[in-house]
Amino acid sequence: MSQPSFRCGEEHPYTLNDLGWTEEHERAFSKYTGPYLPGRVACRQKTVWDVLIDGGSVTAGISGALRRLGRFPAVGDFVVLLDQPEAGTTVIVDILPQKTRFARGAPGREGGDQVIAANIDTVFIVTAAGHDLNARRTERYLAIAHASGASPVIVINKSDLADDPAALADELAAASPGIPVIPVSAASGEGLDRLGPYLLPRRTIALIGSSGVGKSTLINRLMGRPVQETSHTRDYDDRGRHTTTVRQLFVLEGGALMIDNPGLREVGIGTASAGIAETFPEILELAEGCRFSDCRHEGEPGCAVQAAVAAGALPAARLESFQRLMRELAFEEEKAEIGLVRLEKKRWKAIGKCARDIGKMKGK
Ligand code: GDP
Ligand code: ZN
Repeated sequence: MSQPSFRCGEEHPYTLNDLGWTEEHERAFSKYTGPYLPGRVACRQKTVWDVLIDGGSVTAGISGALRRLGRFPAVGDFVVLLDQPEAGTTVIVDILPQKTRFARGAPGREGGDQVIAANIDTVFIVTAAGHDLNARRTERYLAIAHASGASPVIVINKSDLADDPAALADELAAASPGIPVIPVSAASGEGLDRLGPYLLPRRTIALIGSSGVGKSTLINRLMGRPVQETSHTRDYDDRGRHTTTVRQLFVLEGGALMIDNPGLREVGIGTASAGIAETFPEILELAEGCRFSDCRHEGEPGCAVQAAVAAGALPAARLESFQRLMRELAFEEEKAEIGLVRLEKKRWKAIGKCARDIGKMKGK
C-alpha cells in the first residue's frame, strides 16, 4: 500500500498498536485497499475530528455517507481515513466496530443515540471523601458504566481528608458487589499504585464522576504533568470564543490510554437500562422468588424482595435506589419515545409539503 500524503499535525512517538489497535481492528480494516489509513479519534470539534495515526495526527472531516447516516465518530473510535489530495482534505470514511460505547440519551428505535466515547476498557468512577461520597450516586454511575460494556472500578479520591478511608471503602463496597473500591489521594499520590493493575499498556481508561471530585487532578497526577492545564491554554478568536479544542485522549507514562471528555463526565442515566440489572444483582436474584414475574416490589403480595427487606437481608435504601433508577429510566425512555413521535410528525409534514409542491407544479 502506498503511503498516502496525509497532512500531519503534531508528531508523537506512538504506533497504532500503542494506541490500542488490535487484531480485530486489523481484520475489520483488511477490506480496505488503497490510500486508506487507520487512526484513533482523539477529539471531536464541531465538524472536524483530530485523529491520531501511526506517529502523528491528522485533522479530518467525515464522508457524506457517514453524515447522512448520522454516524459521527466519537473520541476513542478507531476509524478509516481516506486522503483526498485533489480536494486538499482527509476524510473519515468508516468507523470500525466499537467494543464498548457511552451514549447520550435513551437509544431511539433507529439507534439514533449519540455516542460520546467508544472503546473504553475500564471506567474509573471517581468519588471523593466528604459530601460527595454517596452510595446512591455511585449506583447510578455503576449502572451507566455497566451499560457501556466497560468494567467499572470505584475510586475514592481525597482519602487524605477522611479519618478512616478503609471504612468509606467498605461503605461503598456494600453498594457495589464484586466491584473494586480503591481509596486514593490525587493530591498526595497516596494509594495511586493500587490503580496500576488497571493502567496496563494499550488499555483505555476513562473517568466519570461529579464535578469537583478531583478527576483533573487525578489525570494530571497519572500523566506526571499537567495536561489538563497546558491543553487549556486557549486561543481566542476576535469574538472571544476559544478556537482550540482540548485533546481528550492521552497516553500515560506506563502506556495506558486515558480518555477525558466533558460529555462523558456528565453522562446521564438515559442509556443505562442494561446496566441497572448488573448494578443490583442481588435484587434481580431475589426477584426470581416473587409471585408475579412483573413484580415491582412495591407491596405486591408474595414479593420476595420486600420479604428480604423485612427480614433485614436487603437494605431498604438499596431497594429504594433500584426503584428510583428504574423510574428515572422509564421517564427517559418515554421522553425518547415522545422525541421520536415528534420527529416522525415532522417528517410527515415535510413529505406532505413536498407532495403539495409537486401538486402545485403539476397544476401549473
Ligand atoms: P474535577 O472537577 O473532578 O476535575 O476536580 P478537580 O481535579 O478540578 O479538583 C477539585 C478540587 O479538589 C481542587 O481544588 C483540587 O485541588 C482538589 N483535590 C483534588 N484531589 C484531591 C485530593 O486527593 N485531596 C484533596 N484534599 N483535595 C483534592
Ligand atoms: Zn417483588
